[in-house]
Amino acid sequence: MVEDSTAGSANIVGRRPNSMASHPRIRQYVVELCDAHAYCTQSVTIQQKSSEYGDSQSDRKTQDAVPSSGQSFKVPAMSWRQNIVLFSVLLLLSLNFIVFNVHWSNRPAVKRHKDMDSSQEMLRVVHLDLKGAPPRIHLFKTLFPLIAAAGANAVLLEYEDMFPFEGILKNASAKNAYSREEILWMLDYAHQSGLEVIPLVQTFGHLEFILKLPEFRHFRELSAFPQEICPSNPDSFQLLVRELIQQVMSIHQTAKWLHIGCDEVFHLAVCERCTRRHLESRLLFTEHVARVAQFVRAEFPGIIPLMWDDMLRQWSPMDLADSGLGELVEPVVWVYSEDIAHLLPHYVWYMYGHVFPHVWVASAYKGAYGETAVAPDLQRHSKNNLAWLKILQATKGVQFRGIVLTGWTRYDHFAVLCELLPVSVPSLLLNLLLVSHPHQPKSQVIHLWTRALACPPTLIPDESLQSDPFQWHLRACAFPGSNLFSAVASYVVLQAQVDTLYTDVTQRQGWLTMYNVRHNFSSPWRLLEALSKGQQLVRELTAFRNSTALIMGQYFDQFTVDEWLEQKVDPLTERMASLQHFVHVLVARDTWPRRPIM
Ligand SMILES: [Zn+2]
Repeated sequence: MVEDSTAGSANIVGRRPNSMASHPRIRQYVVELCDAHAYCTQSVTIQQKSSEYGDSQSDRKTQDAVPSSGQSFKVPAMSWRQNIVLFSVLLLLSLNFIVFNVHWSNRPAVKRHKDMDSSQEMLRVVHLDLKGAPPRIHLFKTLFPLIAAAGANAVLLEYEDMFPFEGILKNASAKNAYSREEILWMLDYAHQSGLEVIPLVQTFGHLEFILKLPEFRHFRELSAFPQEICPSNPDSFQLLVRELIQQVMSIHQTAKWLHIGCDEVFHLAVCERCTRRHLESRLLFTEHVARVAQFVRAEFPGIIPLMWDDMLRQWSPMDLADSGLGELVEPVVWVYSEDIAHLLPHYVWYMYGHVFPHVWVASAYKGAYGETAVAPDLQRHSKNNLAWLKILQATKGVQFRGIVLTGWTRYDHFAVLCELLPVSVPSLLLNLLLVSHPHQPKSQVIHLWTRALACPPTLIPDESLQSDPFQWHLRACAFPGSNLFSAVASYVVLQAQVDTLYTDVTQRQGWLTMYNVRHNFSSPWRLLEALSKGQQLVRELTAFRNSTALIMGQYFDQFTVDEWLEQKVDPLTERMASLQHFVHVLVARDTWPRRPIM
């Protein structure tokens, strides 16, 4: 998942003609919903006017005539035709209002709010994204007690292709997937540490790990993009989604929640089969999610489906209420930036609070600020988590069930690796401690953090995390993963040295530019000087590669070790090798032509 940049522009009225908004009671509700959002109130007025004139396409035309206060406006004199249209619209509005009132007053979400146990402890959930890079099982044996001590009481396991699928799904498993026994051990470690385990199964988008395979390509929404299934193909649910859920749930028999994903369904209602149905994409989305959630609830009684909220965020409150999803799923509202209010205005909370009996939120501890990042930016992640704390404390009318600290390993199935789990232990523990001790001063949380990381007593981190957002001095501590954290700190230094040398000799200095290379014309003495620095770096890179392979092998299988080294270290070596090659070609010459050089 990538950071959402569109939610801030959400229009609560949406594309649906908002006929009910003209009734005083509904209008009061909608205006209340838009509290503190002037543009929203204005939009309601525009939609109201458009609706009254039976012209849903007239936003731009009527915008100039709408009073900026969003209150009333004079209805101009109308012909008898307009009067008939107005009468018909008002009749429709009245009918809609009656339906809406019955619907709204009977919503189970409202009733359940009254029955809720307000003393129920918030769940602090650590997301473990296992896709294509499975940590060795023993890491969880040491990690789970550590995160439990830092305040975690649940983990969200996203297996993707690391689950040992069977039968028709056999090929959906990576060749280095966990065995069933290994997963049972992992679940046992979690249980021993007092952690709930919530499995995550993607059921709509982000199914690349399956849809990439030839035998599953006919389930795709678009033939060219192996991301989403087609919700109008009955086999998508019957043969694929049901099977996925059943196989994963067969090993999670004590789970209380199942996360069904459903985020970033970028291509929706675009295939021929979907377009033939002439349904809005929102309704197609709802139909599929409801079908999945109903299946989960019927097949596994007591289990509550969770889903990412991004596809719902821009719906109108009426659409969300009408969807019925409030009775079927609990949304997990994710934002990884520091400015959460920008992406989630007040009215979104009002809407979610009225529709859903429980709402979850999601911050990030890794994998949110760069697809190729090697270590988490602790300053940004802590700001994101602290911003969520403020939202949790200040938002009224929403029953929050838990916060998920997400930690992405790849941005999707096809992407390269981003921050590895052992390297992210400092970020994970810091953010867990921050959300677990909301009323403690940050200095005390930092103290708890350095103790949890087994740091030497002399180590005093910068409380603001400003001096070094990556906190590389933590390499002196003894947390699980600290040796890999230290190796990655060395990598960052090596990467900077390679970048500097390459830029210096190819751009700043005058003997190894592309001009020199193209015309085979340079000073051997100057080139050999650059070559000697490059050779030293190549030796350091080789030594780093060998030692890091051994360290990474303590946490990951050889496939993941090789992948990381190929993605991160080899490009540096290749850059140095290309310099060496150019130098060798250029110095092979011992006589040069007269200028001008052709
Ligand atoms: Zn389709």
